Amino acid sequence: MRQPLVVGNWKMNGSAATNQHLLADLLAGCSSLTRCRMGVCPPFVYLAAIQAQLQGSPIVWGAQNASQHAPGAYTGEISASMLQDFGCTYVIVGHSERRTLYLENDGIVAEKFAAVQAAGLTPILCVGESLEQREAGVTEQVVGQQLDAILNTQGVEVFDNCVIAYEPVWAIGTGKTATPEQAQAVHAFIRRQLAEKNQPLSEKIQILYGGSVKGSNANELFSMPDIDGGLIGGASLKAEEFLTICRASE
Ligand code: PEP
Repeated sequence: MRQPLVVGNWKMNGSAATNQHLLADLLAGCSSLTRCRMGVCPPFVYLAAIQAQLQGSPIVWGAQNASQHAPGAYTGEISASMLQDFGCTYVIVGHSERRTLYLENDGIVAEKFAAVQAAGLTPILCVGESLEQREAGVTEQVVGQQLDAILNTQGVEVFDNCVIAYEPVWAIGTGKTATPEQAQAVHAFIRRQLAEKNQPLSEKIQILYGGSVKGSNANELFSMPDIDGGLIGGASLKAEEFLTICRASE
């Protein structure tokens, strides 16, 4: 039985004051959760404050990105080892906004994935197709290639310490959600790809859905057999909404 996981991707949002309020509300609400593991990924600069507020609580935290490089002359970058210093559990890698806006290709994503694991942290690997790709009927090909970039270079065993987030690009921040059946089909495909190489690992790995998940649609998405929780953008900034989504995963 896989534990449900719901992670908030705050993106470039929040302030010291609003984060403090949001976390206070989540801390108050999370005691009613029985099975769901809740996580938040704030912007880097707030990690120290988030660590201080969440330390010792059931809520875990992580980062939205990390450099693929070890510490060195990379102005403006943050290494995975630095994130480990701030108690991070997870690091999101390959989010579609990073792939599109910052030109992170599959090769770079694979390097980031390895750097995160080398620092003892767990990557949340985002995969997903664009609207054009879905309409062209190549969703499985695209998602398969994104997985293969890691499978073919690092082997299947690295997926033992990894969460996968299926995030159709056309559903992120658009208000358009994949239907539970559309999402389930891709989740099952991802699990099959891993099962071909390592069946027990494929049954164990958590595969999250992301893309306009809200309190009102979380139940039906999370009731699908291969959907183990969510990566939540906009709705993770509202405590009640985020808690409703977490409850729906149980
Ligand atoms: C995301 O950014 O990972 C995401 C799923 O965003 P939203 O929930 O706002 O669509």
